[in-house]
Amino acid sequence: MENQIHHFCQKCGAQVNHLPTLVEFEGQEIFLFDPIICKNCLLNLCDNFSVKCENCGGSIPPYSQVGVLKAECGKREFVHMNTTCSTVGNAFYGYLGKGNLHQFIEIEAC
Ligand SMILES: [Zn+2]
Ligand SMILES: [Zn+2]
Repeated sequence: MENQIHHFCQKCGAQVNHLPTLVEFEGQEIFLFDPIICKNCLLNLCDNFSVKCENCGGSIPPYSQVGVLKAECGKREFVHMNTTCSTVGNAFYGYLGKGNLHQFIEIEAC
């Protein structure tokens, strides 16, 4: 029952044989089903688009779940939404539904 459909990286066109793309970035595992991006490009995106977590100070790679905080002057701040970063993240969960997360993903897609 192996999936024989061939996928191609949306950034560089390389063939992607296995989905999700799995990379480890600064100790965090990232699984990416959509968009289809090869490992190398995903790691590049992690390098270029990671944001700082306002809770633990670590970096949050793109395509991972984040809590979004509205900060002053229209800025947005992000926190991890995983258990390693603590329950503080959960307190902000309500902000996720306001479109900010979606917007954040679209920035990476262009
Ligand atoms: Zn690629
Ligand atoms: Zn964090």
